[in-house]
Amino acid sequence: LLLLVTIISCKENKEASFTGDTTHEAKIEALLSKMSLEEKIGQTNLRGMHSTESELPEKLIASVKKGEVGAFLNIMNLNYVDELQRIAVEESPNGIPLIFGRDVIHGFKTIFPIPLGLAATWNTQIVEKSSEIAAFEATSSGIRWTFAPMLDIARDSRWGRIAESPGEDPYLATVLGAAYIKGFQGDDLSNPYRMAASAKHYIAYGAAIGGRDYNTVNLSEPLLRNIYLPPFKAAIDAGAATVMSSFNEINGIPATGHEFLLKDVLRGELKFDGFVVSDWDSVTEMIAHGFASDEKHAAELAAKAGLDMEMNSEAYENHLKELIKEEKVTIEELDEFVRNILRIKFRLGLFENPHRNKEHTGNLYAESHLEEAKKAAIKSTVLLKNKNSILPLSEKTNVAIIGPLANAPHEQLGTWAFDGEKEHTNTPLDAYKKANTNFTFAIGLGHSRDTSKKGFQEAINNAEKSDVILFFGGEEAILSGEAHSRANINLPGAQEELINELAKTGKPIVLVIMAGRPITITNIIDKVDAVLMAWHPGTMGGEALYEIVHGIKSPEGRLPVSWPKTAGQLPYFYNHKNTGRPADSINFIPMDKIPIAAWQSSLGNDSHYLDVGFTPHFPFGYGLTYTTFKYTDISISKKIINFNEDLEIKVSITNTGKNDGKEIAQLYIQDVVGSITRPVKELKRFEHVFLKSGETKEVTFKISAKDLEFVNHKMIKAAEVGVFNIWVGPSASEGLKTSFSLKK
Ligand code: BGC
Repeated sequence: LLLLVTIISCKENKEASFTGDTTHEAKIEALLSKMSLEEKIGQTNLRGMHSTESELPEKLIASVKKGEVGAFLNIMNLNYVDELQRIAVEESPNGIPLIFGRDVIHGFKTIFPIPLGLAATWNTQIVEKSSEIAAFEATSSGIRWTFAPMLDIARDSRWGRIAESPGEDPYLATVLGAAYIKGFQGDDLSNPYRMAASAKHYIAYGAAIGGRDYNTVNLSEPLLRNIYLPPFKAAIDAGAATVMSSFNEINGIPATGHEFLLKDVLRGELKFDGFVVSDWDSVTEMIAHGFASDEKHAAELAAKAGLDMEMNSEAYENHLKELIKEEKVTIEELDEFVRNILRIKFRLGLFENPHRNKEHTGNLYAESHLEEAKKAAIKSTVLLKNKNSILPLSEKTNVAIIGPLANAPHEQLGTWAFDGEKEHTNTPLDAYKKANTNFTFAIGLGHSRDTSKKGFQEAINNAEKSDVILFFGGEEAILSGEAHSRANINLPGAQEELINELAKTGKPIVLVIMAGRPITITNIIDKVDAVLMAWHPGTMGGEALYEIVHGIKSPEGRLPVSWPKTAGQLPYFYNHKNTGRPADSINFIPMDKIPIAAWQSSLGNDSHYLDVGFTPHFPFGYGLTYTTFKYTDISISKKIINFNEDLEIKVSITNTGKNDGKEIAQLYIQDVVGSITRPVKELKRFEHVFLKSGETKEVTFKISAKDLEFVNHKMIKAAEVGVFNIWVGPSASEGLKTSFSLKK
């Protein structure tokens, strides 16, 4: 309700203000004046087509000829693309080209790490390059529109789609979101090797209650604006051509029918001038939500909310004409949808170059693409534990490769690897075979959920003969992603049991996890010597991991999401608020240490769980390397700044270990007192710093009052005077601290 009734001071203008090419606008108007009502409705129609038949269905051809389809998604048989486009431009009444959209999420053929893994790189160049390559490969099939990036902040690892997310932090998601847009779209969308991006899912889809996919969302408007909206703003500022509305409802109103969020916020405030596409059937899902009474009502609500294009369901196609006749939707409203859609078709250069260039093969799986995919997988891998620096292993180490993800070419591609082919996957086993080093292989378990112990003995036998056990565990691809939430997020099947058995051999265990989310490992953490989180690393995961394990490369990833001890702590996020009993004063007594018949008061009255306390297993921003770093000498340029001044924060970082390495220095702030309560920490900057062994570098960060702004209960976005704490360090839970004040 708050969302509807609040008069927001940040609202500037209800209408979208067009900022693009004026010649396009003239062409759009000229075209609009010639289009029939049916053709206009056709532009709003995004058709799914799953047919793999060798002939195009007659009915479909007829629809395209009449101009009743504006775009297609996820065409299974990509050979249809050319012919459908030919029919649209040569035979439809006004020759308006189609757009072919697809879920090119983390690569087309060459698959990069899942987006949560890419987020773990904290590296805009990697993200940009991966999207550029995805666009380059996909455009060779005529795909000029991708349904990515997903910019949903995810604070609950039970949610399967956390795998597709940029993690839990709005600043990291903002920086990476802009990089995705740049990579997919380039500087000029008419470049035939680039494609239109879709910032999705607008909005707050990741805030589903309990981490259960599609679930309802209850959010205050300040929370929506401070946490969930910034990545979308960044994507739109970076030129995102389209936005996808989400499945969920927010405080009672489905996002796809949310006039305030689609018109006032997206068009009015964020100045979005591309088109908004619904998610798959999310228009007609408003019926099940209990918001629309039937398909016609759903079409009316979506149209009134300002939804330009409908994905898959046919509410617009079936009812817009009648709704316009009944004056429930106006022709001006429909015209505006068509303008928004045509604008992107013009920007894509589709009117001049509707067809893909047949010479453009996409260089699918080109050496250089595979190299980039390997680099991304290396940079996304997070070292979580490394007892006695067991890693890296020497080349000569005799390793026993065990586990269900050691040679699972499909699984390591992860969720939404729509076009990636497992035949091209390089698994860890492939990499060891190629390196021709000392190893044995016994899978131990057939797949990640396997509970049979049939393979245990062979694995144990191999382990006994080895120097080190290299256990590739985790989750199959299907255990994360859309509609794949889990209530328990531990290693599924009999993996923990197998690790326990292997530990009995006394051989050191290196656990490599491939999964779409953080996996709770508290039960087995003491049984293993090292843990590497590889996410689902994509096509080149095998070599990437081989190189890390053997020290040819160092792990560089940092967690883009807090790693819980148990699913019972979820949702968990580092940028939480304090209770009246601050987290840092917690006097935690583990449950087994509580004296029998103790008085309540002797335990303290803190906000933690008796059995696991409050802190995560590994904090946001965390990640070890093959060296160690020391932070010293934090200093700030001023103790007090005003609203026009910058503040410089300097810190020295020394590589105190024997190896060269890369640190990712992170700057967090805390607004100590606010007109609404503020998070205990918020990431505001980060910097990659490469340091040779023994080397020291000074790192300088700059922030200003702009970085201290937030939206308060009156919907005013501003920085507030007062004291701010600052930390610079290697994660959200460590760092050197100082403070300053903001004054008028
Ligand atoms: C997903 C979207 C996706 C669309 C098209 C939906 O189920 O939520 O993220 O782009 O399908 O495949």
